[in-house]
Amino acid sequence: MSGALNEGETGKRQRTGSVGREDSEVLDQDSRYFQCYSRLHEQQNMLYDHVRTSSYHSAITLNGPSLFRDRTVMDLGAGSGILSFFAVQAGAKHVYAVEASDMADKMRVMLDAAKRNGAASRNAYLADRITVVNSKIEEPRLLPELPKVDVIISEPIGVMLVHERMLESYIYARDKFLRPGGAMMPSTGTIHLAPLSDATLWNETITSARFWQQNAFYGVDLNPYFAQAFDECFSSPVVGCFNPNALMGESTQHEIDFHTIQMAELREFCVPIEWNIKYTGLMHGVASWFDLAFIPPASALRPGTTPSATFLSTSPRLPVTHWHQARLLLKQPLAVNAGQVVRGFINMKANSHRSYDIFAQLICLEQEESAAVTTPEELRSMLETHKSRARTAVWHLQAQIYNYSYTGEQTWNSNPEEANLYLPVDKLLAASDGRDPQSSVILSVHGTTTSLTDFLVTTKSAASKPVSGAASNAESSEMQL
Ligand code: SAH
Repeated sequence: MSGALNEGETGKRQRTGSVGREDSEVLDQDSRYFQCYSRLHEQQNMLYDHVRTSSYHSAITLNGPSLFRDRTVMDLGAGSGILSFFAVQAGAKHVYAVEASDMADKMRVMLDAAKRNGAASRNAYLADRITVVNSKIEEPRLLPELPKVDVIISEPIGVMLVHERMLESYIYARDKFLRPGGAMMPSTGTIHLAPLSDATLWNETITSARFWQQNAFYGVDLNPYFAQAFDECFSSPVVGCFNPNALMGESTQHEIDFHTIQMAELREFCVPIEWNIKYTGLMHGVASWFDLAFIPPASALRPGTTPSATFLSTSPRLPVTHWHQARLLLKQPLAVNAGQVVRGFINMKANSHRSYDIFAQLICLEQEESAAVTTPEELRSMLETHKSRARTAVWHLQAQIYNYSYTGEQTWNSNPEEANLYLPVDKLLAASDGRDPQSSVILSVHGTTTSLTDFLVTTKSAASKPVSGAASNAESSEMQL
């Protein structure tokens, strides 16, 4: 999805759509949300994301023989209908394209033309293969109307995977309309959370808040606003790309299996954090991105066929997508040394703004201290007792703002020292004499393609599932190098 719902400024490819404050305003919120998606321009933004669209194309068409051929499919949130069209290309017997916004009417125009023009139309193959259902999937009247399907395809993904809360509709569709053993495509989503050093962004953010410290603004003392402005600035996730050299260690990952996750687990979950810090420096916050995997379960395959696995990653080390990445800043940076471990919890809780409130508790520990902390209770007690090296934070994912200043083209900051990050001396020397290829991964990263090791790490859990004949989009074929 395109990040259609947020309270922040309009970005280059995002639309503004502030939302209601109470649960009772859900209907109003829905109507604004679907109004936004009824515009072809909004759908175009998503189609234009080549990484996204080509990954879905690979995931669906390469699984034609194993999964889609002669099967019934639901396209949840069909939008322009692109995934329905891919499913028909992959041989689906029939596709139910469920779309709540007025895009459904536009899709009908497209399909009517395919039918009317018969063989003369390049889209003739779509005629009579797709039923457009103009409704929210949660409408009770659909229950008797729609059959159980073999496969559900959908692109219900927002910033940090979960923004817009459409994953709940995806899970609802699974529970009500997927036949037992059927396939969810995508099959898993993985949220990455990593320690970030970004003095530039932090300085920009505090400078913006400090506007409210002026005491003679046209004769007015603005200071009473400062505390609130400070809160607002630092609770707003910043969406955009950043130089991956700003990462201080590998990410902690939270995988969501769309075949098994329960609604309550999606609405609130806690990610235990453990970051092994690679550089000495200031940690200004948390960086986040996500991966998707498309791996059909064995139960859904046609006998004797081999499935394809496709992966889509929004890692800062890979080509940019319209989701970009997110940076979540701490009000007070945390000084950390290479070799220390940052532990804690990041809790994500769905809110009534079609988004999430994110709570963090983090603490910097020596390795030995960290090894001694084995239970969540012990960690909570450390957080309580060692306040000077602990930080708490709250972010509201719907309050996201945009910063597109990093495009991947910049040559600055290509060495960690330029970002005020310092390797321990032994690592610095080892990276140059070939003894420590691992540390050179982060050292050498510039641009997008030199860090496949990281990508291998990030996708290991999905890739290690028993799938043969893996075929995939650009990222995963690189993965096989
Ligand atoms: N499948 C398209 C569009 C993805 S955007 C593509 O991949 O390009 C998500 C779409 O889902 C939007 O068009 C939105 O209107 C629709 N949508 C969101 N929640 C929905 C729900 N609960 N029921 C039906 N459609 C929904």
